Amino acid sequence: MTSSTLQQCLSAAKQRLAGVLPLQEASQEARILCMAALGVTHAWLLTHGDKPLTTAQQAQCEALLERRLQGEPVAHILGQREFFGLSLQVTPDTLIPRPDTETLVEAALARMRTPDRPPVLRILDLGTGTGAIALALASHGHDCQVIAVDASAAALAVAASNARALGLHNVQCVLSDWFSALEGQRFDLIVSNPPYIAENDPHLQQGDVRFEPRSALVSGVDGLDDLRQLIEQAPRFLNASGWLLVEHGYNQAAAVQALCAAQGFVQIQTLFDLGQQPRVTLGQWLPPHPV
Ligand code: GLN
Repeated sequence: MTSSTLQQCLSAAKQRLAGVLPLQEASQEARILCMAALGVTHAWLLTHGDKPLTTAQQAQCEALLERRLQGEPVAHILGQREFFGLSLQVTPDTLIPRPDTETLVEAALARMRTPDRPPVLRILDLGTGTGAIALALASHGHDCQVIAVDASAAALAVAASNARALGLHNVQCVLSDWFSALEGQRFDLIVSNPPYIAENDPHLQQGDVRFEPRSALVSGVDGLDDLRQLIEQAPRFLNASGWLLVEHGYNQAAAVQALCAAQGFVQIQTLFDLGQQPRVTLGQWLPPHPV
């Protein structure tokens, strides 16, 4: 390996990544991977372009670059992803948190700030994965108790470790296949980013999803199996005036709204993500009056 400067190493990395990624992403990822390989900050990277790299440093950059060129997600290579201002540990046992899901967090926080809210809100995050939604709500919403459940013990361990690392003591991680371990409990807010991709969707063969757990992505022939189950069962676990908020695929809003309406939810609406796709549907639960 010939000796090269940091700038040369970055340019070469960017060029190779541009073979598989759009140019802007290639340039950003080259920087991120070099920062991780060298253990330096962005500011350091910007100010040390002419610094010659040792053979060991070049090899470290090369190793991370090679993994990325094989398709491995950046979040797996770094073992980390930012979500709603929180740094979260990510492993191949969990879905990688995405900016789209911040739409759900914003909507949930808005419903946690109403003047008529109970003093301590009880919140349930179904299929928590890294804990992204649960931890974002626990850290930004005042006076709430969050139960984060997942059917995967490995994912739940990641969520629990993230909660510890962030010092969030108002989050309890519970092993549960959707509502199975929660019989008799009631919540003011139920949130979920369940699997919602159709099993034959060609996107499953592209990009990061190839490396994520299938159980966190795929849900039957139309992608709606889990959403159907969640929406049907949610009323039994919601307090009066509580809200259900679910993320779904860009083409599932009408189906999810219909499922919510069929259960008797009111104030049903769909919100758009940062890419202007319909992404989150919510509804309020008002128990029917006895006749
Ligand atoms: N939004 C993810 C994707 O389409 C899927 C996440 C999910 O199934 N919950 O890549």
